[in-house]
Amino acid sequence: MAKHKEPNFYESVQRNFDRAAALTSLPKGLLAQIREVNSVYQMRFPVKIGKEYKVIEAYRAQHSHHRSPTKGGIRYSQKVNQQEVMALASLMTYKCALVDVPFGGAKGGVKISPRDYTAAQLESITRRYTTELIKKNFIGPGVDVPAPDYGTGAREMAWIFDTYSVFVGGIDAAACVTGKPVQQNGIRGRGEATGRGVYYGIREVLADRELMDSINMTTGTEGKTIALQGLGNVGYHAGTICTKEGGMKVISVAEYEGAIYTESGIDLDKLVKHRKRSGSILNFPGAENLEQRKMTLEVDCDVLIPAALENQIRKDNAKKIKAKIIAEAANGPTTADAEEILLKKNKIIIPDMYLNAGGVTVSYFEWLKNLSHMRFGRMDKRFDENTYLNIVNLIERKTSKPISAHEKMMVARGAEEIDLVRSGLEETMVTAYNQIRGIMKRRKKVTDLRTAAFISALNKISSDYISMGVFP
Ligand code: NAD
Repeated sequence: MAKHKEPNFYESVQRNFDRAAALTSLPKGLLAQIREVNSVYQMRFPVKIGKEYKVIEAYRAQHSHHRSPTKGGIRYSQKVNQQEVMALASLMTYKCALVDVPFGGAKGGVKISPRDYTAAQLESITRRYTTELIKKNFIGPGVDVPAPDYGTGAREMAWIFDTYSVFVGGIDAAACVTGKPVQQNGIRGRGEATGRGVYYGIREVLADRELMDSINMTTGTEGKTIALQGLGNVGYHAGTICTKEGGMKVISVAEYEGAIYTESGIDLDKLVKHRKRSGSILNFPGAENLEQRKMTLEVDCDVLIPAALENQIRKDNAKKIKAKIIAEAANGPTTADAEEILLKKNKIIIPDMYLNAGGVTVSYFEWLKNLSHMRFGRMDKRFDENTYLNIVNLIERKTSKPISAHEKMMVARGAEEIDLVRSGLEETMVTAYNQIRGIMKRRKKVTDLRTAAFISALNKISSDYISMGVFP
């Protein structure tokens, strides 16, 4: 009998799509149109590295054009390949629809390990990649808008913006990419956005009494333990915010070089400093080193947060997962085979498409800010402050009970950009969660969060297509 081969990332996404699609009554042709990746641009370009030229392999995939622009991050990793980029682009379409961000899905990838290059060499690669995208009309404020992903950050986005400004320019050029530094047309709160969204998502699930009863767990975040894989942008912020705002405790962290564990909880800021100083998370004071980095995934804890790469929980290790909740901060950390095993073991998987949508949500805010050429809060902050102050002063006069200047300041504070960004993000994550759970409550056959999230996304994408008159 032929041995069953575990599906790759793209196949897992397609299998999850099919499972959800089978539970809808949407026309077959429409589902087939939504399912496929519309365009993939594969490129190879030379970049001078030292005295030699190196040929770099790179991609940009646009999964769906039912909304414009398309949107999705750019990944720098030695493991980048066409199927991976296609899987990530597909997820972006579903993610955007799920959280009502009006974009089609896209994703880019450059097949390099950033560790192997100097900053100047990475700049050359990024600028050349951008010019390739410009040449083929694969980038632009109304066309396709990249953002950071694994291996990239604000610095790379600034290079992309600058290259685009030089070659194309125009009044809206800043909206050609998001995740830029705040000083260069970025938005406050984008750096932490994905991790913050992960916290809001976990908080919503943990507050859901019906779901918590189903896995025999008490509600609330306070005191719940976390095992965290990946201490990069998403992992660091997710872990930090879960700890500081949710009162949770990170008891194990895995990084590239190994993993650590301590029951008493790990201070991630101290761990980051320790890693900067020593070059490794290992030998962190007060924690023990684990034999292998993958052991973090198997730690006995309440919530496992994979925040590194796809295919981390597979058929071979799914049975060893002890956490009751798997919070997919990374894209695609659970293979479709592993998911079946976990669901049979009564685990809750908070799906990537929902949980890490905070990044694209705040990217959407940044794009809007760039197009409006104005910082959020500029029009209303003072007006709100004056209104609140008038109310407080009136109450003070009527009651003859004076309050201190400090108390007045606390009450009469107008919202800054960061407050509005966080509030918009929280609203987005809460609304999307309620929609997902609404589907599960109405449809008895839908028993897991991922299928419900897919159905929510599919309903929204189909109604876009139908309103465009494509599928009357
Ligand atoms: P990052 O490059 O900032 O961090 C990832 C970290 O994971 C790195 O520090 C890397 O060393 C570590 N890592 C890699 N393999 C590992 C392993 N086997 N075990 C332990 N650690 C490992 O990347 P990121 O931006 O934080 O992205 C992480 C994941 O989140 C990716 O799947 C990405 O697609 C997804 N995501 C990111 C964003 C975003 O805004 N950056 C948004 C949505 C989803």
